[in-house]
Amino acid sequence: MEVPLSRPDISWEDKQAVVAVLDTPFLALGPHVQRFEEAVAGYVGARFGVAVSSGTSALHLLVKAFGIGEGDEVITTPFSFIASANCILYERARPVFVDVEPETGNINPDLIERAITARTKAILSVDSFGHPARLDDIRGIAERHGLAVIEDACESLGSEYRGQKCGSPAYAHGASFAFYPNKQITTGEGGMIVTDDEEVARLCRSMRNQGRGETGVWLSHERLGYNYRMDEMSAALGLSQFRRLEEILAKRERVARMYADHLSRISGISLPRVAPEVTRMSWFVYVIRVEDGINRDSVMDYLTQMGIQCRPYFSPIHLQPFYRQLFGYKEGDFPVAERLGRSCIAIPFHNNLTKEEIAYVAEKLEEAVARQQG
Ligand SMILES: *Cc1c(COP(=O)(O)O)cnc(C)c1O
Repeated sequence: MEVPLSRPDISWEDKQAVVAVLDTPFLALGPHVQRFEEAVAGYVGARFGVAVSSGTSALHLLVKAFGIGEGDEVITTPFSFIASANCILYERARPVFVDVEPETGNINPDLIERAITARTKAILSVDSFGHPARLDDIRGIAERHGLAVIEDACESLGSEYRGQKCGSPAYAHGASFAFYPNKQITTGEGGMIVTDDEEVARLCRSMRNQGRGETGVWLSHERLGYNYRMDEMSAALGLSQFRRLEEILAKRERVARMYADHLSRISGISLPRVAPEVTRMSWFVYVIRVEDGINRDSVMDYLTQMGIQCRPYFSPIHLQPFYRQLFGYKEGDFPVAERLGRSCIAIPFHNNLTKEEIAYVAEKLEEAVARQQG
């Protein structure tokens, strides 16, 4: 059996929504982008949404909109997808990594304050695997020190922390979502900024559109901008997917439950846990950990041989070759992130994973671990 890591879930309505755009004169800069923005912003309780070309461009514009530049420091996590740190480097600011909590893999708020200096401008937290970071503690620290909170919610659309959605202005001054095909909802490529801050929204709107001003005079450019726009086909797909979000999250919840049922009996691995403060978990990926003494890479090799796609998710950012080169990071700098990096495996996870596929993954995982336990 071949079991892919991820697979998009595109309905007949989703396809119709995209095709309908192709019959209009507006393939870009049309009405769907605004509708999609209003839908997502409204969902998380933010005043403004700004749709862009990717989650990475959303993060880049947030860093710029909060005035972060050369010489500034941004506190962030080393256990993430590389974009959450690269967006700081784009502006020649410095990512200051703080180690993560072993339970969730998210930034450990208890370690943030000692990393704050006179140059710190913001805390950029990530909701890894869809599990919210300790967003209330992060916001509290930021307020005490006059810092901005940027939330990389690219993996956590739909998750809630203490009754507030990830990306909510209750926690973040600005947050990013991403709509790559493996995310909860997709636009192909795409992303969105959400914020309550009118100035941040205005700057992001301008910068995604070549730095044009509000009046929209076509060849008047008020600031350095980019082409980070989302096109109309993508926005139509996003909107159609967004309308199915409840159904999608329920399907993912069902898959996560089935995995928990099938995998809990396997010794030598541990399953993802959801903190009690998380009032809703939106599953992005399903990441298991192998316990000490089990060789993660051998487990992955066996699964791969058996047709089961899997990934070492995440591989810590500070140990990526160019971060080592730029900043001199080495093994041992962020031990919790590194231990997770050595033990985590993302196994197949998407809306429509079947009971048979889950049973097969469980069977092969059990075999893979048993082979090592001799
Ligand atoms: C997906 C993702 C992003 C953005 O990815 P894009 O491919 O640029 O849309 C950023 N941060 C995290 C943690 C992600 O998982």
